Formats: sequence, structure tokens, C-alpha cells
Amino acid sequence: MTEIERHDYDVLVIGAGGAGLRAAIEARERGLRTAIVCKSLFGKAHTVMAEGGCAAAMGNVNEHDSWQVHFRDTMRGGKFLNSWRMAELHAKEAPERVWELETYGALFDRTPDGRISQRHFGGHTYPRLAHVGDRTGLELLRTLQQRIVALQQADHDETGDFEARLRVFAECTVTELLTDPDGDGHHAPVAGAFGYWRESGRHVLFSAPAVVLATGGIGKSFQVTSNSWEYTGDGHALALRAGASLVDMEFVQFHPTGMVWPPSVKGILVTEGVRGDGGVLRNSDGERFMFGYVPDVFKGQYAQTEDEADRWYDDQESNRRTPDLLPRDEVARAINTEVKEGRGSPHGGVYLDIASRMPADEIRRRLPSMYHQFKELADVDITAEPMEVGPTCHYVMGGIAVDPDTGQSRVPGLFAAGECAGGMHGSNRLGGNSLSDLLVFGRRAGLGAADYVVGLERRPAVRDDDVELAAAMTLAPFEAHPAGLAGENPYTLHAELQRVMNDLVGIIRTEQEMVAALDRLAELRARVHDVVVEGHRQYNPGWHLALDLRNMLMVSEAVASSALLRTESRGGHTREDYPGLDATWRHRVLVTHCVRSGSGLGAGAGAGAAVVPRTAVEPAEREPMRPDLLALFDLTELEKYYTPAELAGHPDARHPDAGHPNVGRAAAPQPEGGTA
Ligand SMILES: Cc1cc2nc3c(=O)[nH]c(=O)nc-3n(C[C@H](O)[C@H](O)[C@H](O)COP(=O)(O)OP(=O)(O)OC[C@H]3O[C@@H](n4cnc5c(N)ncnc54)[C@H](O)[C@@H]3O)c2cc1C
Repeated sequence: MTEIERHDYDVLVIGAGGAGLRAAIEARERGLRTAIVCKSLFGKAHTVMAEGGCAAAMGNVNEHDSWQVHFRDTMRGGKFLNSWRMAELHAKEAPERVWELETYGALFDRTPDGRISQRHFGGHTYPRLAHVGDRTGLELLRTLQQRIVALQQADHDETGDFEARLRVFAECTVTELLTDPDGDGHHAPVAGAFGYWRESGRHVLFSAPAVVLATGGIGKSFQVTSNSWEYTGDGHALALRAGASLVDMEFVQFHPTGMVWPPSVKGILVTEGVRGDGGVLRNSDGERFMFGYVPDVFKGQYAQTEDEADRWYDDQESNRRTPDLLPRDEVARAINTEVKEGRGSPHGGVYLDIASRMPADEIRRRLPSMYHQFKELADVDITAEPMEVGPTCHYVMGGIAVDPDTGQSRVPGLFAAGECAGGMHGSNRLGGNSLSDLLVFGRRAGLGAADYVVGLERRPAVRDDDVELAAAMTLAPFEAHPAGLAGENPYTLHAELQRVMNDLVGIIRTEQEMVAALDRLAELRARVHDVVVEGHRQYNPGWHLALDLRNMLMVSEAVASSALLRTESRGGHTREDYPGLDATWRHRVLVTHCVRSGSGLGAGAGAGAAVVPRTAVEPAEREPMRPDLLALFDLTELEKYYTPAELAGHPDARHPDAGHPNVGRAAAPQPEGGTA
């Protein structure tokens, strides 16, 4: 067998964003030898781009905030499809995780009396986002890195070796997870991961009984996106190929405000913090159009006049919030409609106006990155003129199905946290809920992985055959193509994939489009076997893309297949042919898994299936919400989402026979858990 570089750890964390770093800190603090592998430079993970803030019900700016209000907002934002247990843990633990960051050295913006300041964001009842100007992700990531360095220094003091218990492998891409088919139980446990160094192209093997996936999202499969080059859905696809399943893949969030001009920057994010701080959306007639787009489920919760909306910024007790801050799915759809009906801006967006609402120096102080971004990239001074904005692919709610408490997938030893994990956000994520998700579930996954390793009786082993296969798979694009056949160019395939996803599986979907998308994806899957790259293995971006394409294709198929099956509109999934919410879909999640015959990396159905294995999607029931959590909502609100039978357990429910309240209350609490 070929000689390759090998490492052996207790816990391997793949991804160095907020989720990965927080997981690694936890595993190392539990005394386990931990490695972090990331495909970009350390400190450059996508989390660094996060702008507006981190949602946590600390109640610093409005004392009425509490975990219960945050839980309710999160469930409403996700249109009640969320894993309620994840939403509960998140709402309860987020404040502690934010305060903990300050003990690691973070410094958030302050209120006048010195507490952590919190800003408004869409769908959050109270000002809730802890922030550092509009550069919150940078502070979060820098702080977690600082904590990692502090732990390495402590290890050095004790052992003389900085990397004795915690080591970072940067610019190293994992291409396959390896499992041990001889392990006990229904699913082969994870045994390690295989990858390559981006700089040298040389292979590397990590043996580890626990792997935490924290690889972020999938946005690079779409043409217009706010996401960075790293977002090729690697963790989603690695998990599928290792035997884990994905949930909710039809739910992709299109952020309402991306830049639309000039073309070279189309899709770059304009933070929701602009609207949170007072910015408003207008169409080409100058009208604040969001007042016409408050959906029935939110009626009564949002201001009906501009005066009330404007008063709300200073007095939230006597006024209702502005509809400019409806959840993102609603705002993105509204912008889409305005543009389609001819009331858009010259470059196909709408206007976002902060200039007329706040003094110039205040805009520069509160939104320094936005000021800089528009000045440098579009030659627009946002203190003097409105921005042009439109929807951009931003976040994937769908991800690896995990146990809410431990982060473990159905593959023993395989954990996931952060954007690559599914369930927490249901059909639509509220802004700010990702950064807190990374901290809460990053910590839980690190803890889950540590407990799993400590409890193991036998360490799973990597099979040499699988290593050989994983290596061969990475090198296939260098193989000369049979005479007479032109190889496929990875950049061409990527551009085609992005167009398919953008045009056919975008913000508004129809059955016909999704069927067409699946046909086109099948074609691309066939062509990806013929990808040929030129040059050698040293820092070869064409080769890297060829390998990423496998993942993008698997994940795109999961998105399109799930979107085809869900015959309703909910959150980030809008069907033109099924425009309404359907209560019979509220408790059903769509689960994607990989279709393979046999076990091991080489197994697959038909020639080349091992390169991009097929996926299949099936519905599964979401467990019913615990009665004490259900009781946090008014029955009248729940009736907009639930079937009558499901609400029999609500304290205010009238029993059909008894005719008075409370008779139908469910007797025993359901077991905890929430992710199918
Ligand atoms: C412009 C922008 C602004 C945002 N603002 C906010 C905000 O204000 N508040 C909020 O809550 N959310 C915000 N979000 C969303 C949020 O930033 C992300 O959801 C979150 O940072 C994801 O973190 P993560 O830890 O899951 O993954 P990431 O931070 O993306 O980290 C992924 C890591 O995985 C590594 N990786 C990926 N694939 C591989 C592989 N095959 N091998 C090895 N390593 C791999 C990457 O190199 C990286 O280190 C914003 C997003 C964008 C794009």
C-alpha cells in the first residue's frame, strides 16, 4: 500500500469556524487529544464573515426578553417545523455561551450602563443580537482562536509540546470519512478521515474514533450567493457517504438583501443589521412596500402604519415592529414580487434606505463594513443614497440529522454541529441564530464526542482497502482520458450546476422546474466521471474544484428531490404550484440518505456510482412538541399551523365531547428529542 502521512487522535474536528472551534475546545478541555482540520487558513473560516450579531436572550436592552420568548420566535421563524428540542436548548443556553466568550476575551459593543449591547433583527421580538459593530463573526472567531492558543500554551507548560493535545491542520481538505464495517451495531462506526494538503496535494490519513463535522453550508452550488468558496457542501456529502442522513434539505434561505450591482459583486451580503438599526425597504415608487406583505400567520404582530413602525424603534412596549423586519423568507419573497411586477430598481433589486433615517457619522459608526463595502465595491455612499439590494442564497437550514442533546448522527462516532447540521432552524433561520447555534451545539457536539470516546470498549479501525480507494478517487481526474473523448472541464460543470440550481431550484419553485433540475443534475452526475484536470497536485484549484463537485452534486440532488416532494410552501421553500402552508406537512420532515449496495467506499449501484452515489428521500415524522413547550403558545396562533388533532394536548384546547377547557390535555410528557 502507498505510504501516506498518518495521524492518530481521539477526536477529529473537521472545520474551523465557530462550531468546529467550540467543539474542539470542549473535547480538549475534557482531556482528549483533538485535531482540527480545515480547508482554508486558520482564522479564515466562513464565520469570519458574519456581520450583524449573535442572538441570545440576555435581556440587556429589553428586560422582558427570556429564553421562552426566544424559543417562540425561533419556532415561528421556522414555521413550527424545527426540532423543538434543539430550539429549546439553543434558547436556554445561548446567553451562557455569549458570556463565556467574554471570559475568553471577546469584547462586544456595550449599552450606556456597560452591559453587552443587543440589536434588533428580523423575527426577534426584542433587541437580542450581541454584536461588535457589523463585524461580529470576526470577533467570535478571533476569540475562539485565542482560546485554542491559550489551551496549547497550557499544554506546552505541562508537556513541553504546544500540540500535545490540540493541533490545527490548516489548508487540508477531507475528501472521505472512513468507517469500520466490523464494528458492532446497525451502522458501521466512524474510524477516521482521508484528505489531502491543498498546498502539496499529498495525501493524509487521520484515525479517530470520533469525528465532528463542522463544515458549514452549500451556497456555492448556486449562482448568486453570499457564501464563501468553502461552501461546497462537503460535510453534508461526507456524512451521506458514511451512512448518516440529512433532514430538511429543501429549505435553503435566500437572504433578502444581497448587493445586485455591479455584476462582479452580485450576491454579497448586506447585513440585516441595516434594517435592525432603522433602514427601510422602498420600491421604485418610493413606497415602503413591506406593509402590504404581512402574511396571515403574522397578522396583528406587525405595525400597520409607517408612524407606528418608526415609533417602535424607541418604544417596543406600545408599538408593533416594522414589517421590514419580518423573517427573511417573507421579505425575500416580497422583494421578488416587487421586482417581477415592475417596481424594482434599475439593476433588478429594490432600495434599502438608511441615509434618510440616521446621521452620516452614526451610520459610519454602527455599520462600518457596509459603508466600506458599498463605497469600495459599488461607488455608493450609503450615508447619502440608498443601496440597491435583492435576494441572495445565504444559508442552508437542512443538514445532517443529529441527536439534539449530543450532536451524534446515526453513524456511531460521527457528530455534527453548526450550519452543516439540520433541524434547529426548521424551514427558515432567524438572523443571528446561527452564531449562537454554533456556540451551543459546537460545545454539545464536542462534549458528545468526548463522552463517546471515553465510553468505547474498542477503537474502530481504518481498512487499508478503503484508504486505497479514497486515494484513487482523488487522483482519478488526473488520469488521461480514453482516446477520442474530450474530458470535462470542472469550471464548466460548476457553472452549469450553479445555473441549474439558480434557475430551477431557486426562491420560487414548481414541480416542472424541479423535475427538469433533477434531469439536468443526472446529466451532470454522468459527466462528472469524465472530469479531467491539467497540471500537477501542487496547489491546483482546478483539481480541488473537481473533487468538490462530487459533494455539490450530491447535495444539490438532495435539495431538488426534497423540494419536489414537499407539496406546500413553508419558510425557505416556496412552491408556486402549492402556495399555502399545509398543516399535514408541518410534522413531516424529509430525510435524505445515500443509496449503496454493500458496505465500504467501493460499494455502489452501477459503474461510477462510487464517485457520486445516488441519494433517496423519504418522509419521516417529527416528534410532537413537549406539552410544557406547546403551552408557551396561544392556541389561536397554533391553530394557524397545526391540525386540530395535534392540539388536543394544549391546555386551552376544548375537548370535542366535554365542551370545556383543559379536558383534552395530554397526560404524559413525550420523550425528549426532536430530530428525525
Ligand atoms: C456574509 C454573511 C454574514 C452573516 N452574518 C451572520 C450574523 O450576523 N449572524 C448569524 O448568526 N449568522 C450570520 N451568518 C451565517 C453564519 O456566519 C454561518 O452560518 C456560520 O458562520 C457557519 O459557521 P460554521 O462553524 O458552521 O461553519 P464555517 O464558519 O463555515 O466553517 C466551516 C469550516 O469547515 C472547513 N471545511 C469545509 N469543508 C471542509 C473539508 N472538506 N475539509 C476540511 N475542512 C473543511 C472550512 O475550511 C471552515 O474552516 C452570515 C453568513 C454570511 C455569509
